[in-house]
Parts: sequence; C-alpha cells; structure tokens
Amino acid sequence: MKEKEIQEIGDLLSSHKKIAITTHQFPDGDAMGSSLALYHYLKLNGHDAAVVVPTYYPDFLHWMPGDEEVTNYMTHQHKALDILDEAEVLFCLDYNQPSRTKNLADAVENFKGTKILIDHHPNPGDFVDYKLSVIEASSTAELIYEFIVMFNDERIINRDIASCIYTGILTDTGSFAYGSTTYRAHYIAGEMIKAGADNLNIQNEIFNSNSEDRVRLMGFALSDKLTIVPELNAGYITLALEELDRFNFQNGDTEGLVNHVLSIKGVCFAVLMLEREKSVKCSFRSIGQFPSNEVAGNHFNGGGHMNASGGEHYGSLAEAEQLLQEVLPKYKEQLIG
Ligand code: 5GP
Ligand code: MN
Repeated sequence: MKEKEIQEIGDLLSSHKKIAITTHQFPDGDAMGSSLALYHYLKLNGHDAAVVVPTYYPDFLHWMPGDEEVTNYMTHQHKALDILDEAEVLFCLDYNQPSRTKNLADAVENFKGTKILIDHHPNPGDFVDYKLSVIEASSTAELIYEFIVMFNDERIINRDIASCIYTGILTDTGSFAYGSTTYRAHYIAGEMIKAGADNLNIQNEIFNSNSEDRVRLMGFALSDKLTIVPELNAGYITLALEELDRFNFQNGDTEGLVNHVLSIKGVCFAVLMLEREKSVKCSFRSIGQFPSNEVAGNHFNGGGHMNASGGEHYGSLAEAEQLLQEVLPKYKEQLIG
C-alpha cells in the first residue's frame, strides 16, 4: 500500500466513523480472527464498528472475544443489511471478490462509502477503494497486525486484539506448518503472546473441543471413505448427506480432515467432497508446487491459494467424484513430477 493511501485511510479514520467489517461465507479461524481483531482495534479508536458474517461458523470459534457482537446474515438478515446500509466505511477481510460473501455480495458490491480490502488471496478484485493485498502473507490476521503497525498503533494491541490475531495466524498456517509460515508469521505470533494472547488456551479452544461425533466422523471418513490414487499421488474423501447426518454433522466438523489425506506419504494432492442440499462443497490441498487452486478454478467453480483452495460442484456427489476422476489424469505430469 502506498504512503499516500495510508495517509488517506489515516485521515478517514481520524474522526468517528460507522464501520462495517465483512468476511467470506462459512468463516474460518482467519476470517473470524482478522474480523474480530480489526473490530477491537477500531472500537479502541472510538469507532462504531460491527462485524457482519454471511453464514454461521464453527463452534470452536465462538469463544473469541467480541463473538457475541457478531451479526450473522442467516439469522439476522435485516440487521445485517442495515449495518452495511448505514456504514460509512466497509472492510472486506479474507476475500478477494464480493461473490465470496454469497448472501452479502450485492450489498458489498453496491456499498456507497469507502471500501478497504485486507486479504492474502491471489487476484484481488477491483471492487474496493483501497487494497492491502499481500499474497505471501500467512493470513489476513497477519495483515491486520501490519495494518495496525502502519498507523504506529502496535503499542495499543491488547489481549483481545492479540488473541484474535493469534487465532488467525495459528489456523491459517495449519499450526505453523504450511509453506506460508514465515519468520514474520512466527514473529507476530510471538508479539501477540507478549501482548496477552493465551496460546495454550487458544490451542485448547480450537483443537481440543471436539464432540465425540466429530472424532467418530473423522475416523469413519478416513477408514471407510478414503480413496487413494497411488499412480497420481492423489487421495480423496467423499461424504454424503446421509453419512454426515449419521454423525450429527455440525459446520466445522470436517475442518482439517483433508489434511490427514495429505499427511499420507506420497500423496501431494488431497480432496474432500461434502454433499450439500443442492451442490457439493469441495476442499483442495496440495504439497509443494502442485496448484490446487487451478483444479478448483478450472473445474469446480472456485479458487484460493496454491496449496489450499476450494470450490463447489453444482450436481450430485457421484457426478462430482466422477468429474474429479476425469480431471486428475489431466494433471498427471504435475502430480507425479
Ligand atoms: P476450505 O477448503 O477450508 O473451505 O477453503 C480453503 C481455501 O480455499 C479458503 O481459504 C479460500 O481461499 C479458498 N476457497 C474455498 N472455497 C472457495 C470457493 O468456493 N471459491 C473460491 N474462490 N475460493 C474458495
Ligand atoms: Mn485466510
């Protein structure tokens, strides 16, 4: 971001503003972490800020400070749209296109005030006035820290802001394991612990809060629903609605499941397909240089990062699986290279 733009945003935020913070549908730890971190930061600076999410998000994120103030479009449609309607500034966090906010896309696109994007996904759209877009950043939460630093405010980072930023970095780096995990990501995480983030408690809230059903669903998926395609270094899991129902599926229950497939020696591309009412939600993960986001973008109406991407197939689960089986050989050279 250019010095002039930082100055302009600084000027804009130097007086009290009504601010809406939005993120992508089915928010993850980084979406909620970055949104709530920015929310606490803006409140601390005297603004009237509100976080609006397009859909529900997993139970293991509801401990986060400020969670009770979040407005979910699915349960409070009018309130959600009113907040966007009345806001003077709109922050777009952890997404690169309005369509990623599904229910909120029209309101985001047609927003009349100043729009500021903070994100780390490739190909940020031109629907905003200002962009802090860093594809190499481990997480949007990391960029919220950089945003705060731009205004020389790192000293005011309190326990709430720190806990949220830490959560975003922790979850989007797969516990500091993915290729995006840089010195900077570790440094900021350390600074957040210094500022009061209780890292052990956060670990517990996120990773040790499973229901029995969730753990059994994971076991079932890995034992009964995993297909390995050894000649293509790929593996995938499909889960039908009936199977998800059997384990009382809750949103977020399959978070991390696809990474277990990737943990198998030799597998460099892993896919999870979840049946929904009218479509199939697909998650793609890869190791090394295999561009999972090309598969997502070219064949599954999605996109994302090279090593972590997602998409949707508008058809049956069987069709989605068949499509994957047809698509995989097209990438043979990259998969076995
Ligand atoms: P997940 O598999 O955890 O849902 O998503 C992993 C990553 O893929 C997300 O951080 C996001 O960057 C991207 N992603 C997931 N679903 C979609 C989608 O439907 N469209 C696009 N463009 N990206 C997606
Ligand atoms: Mn993210």
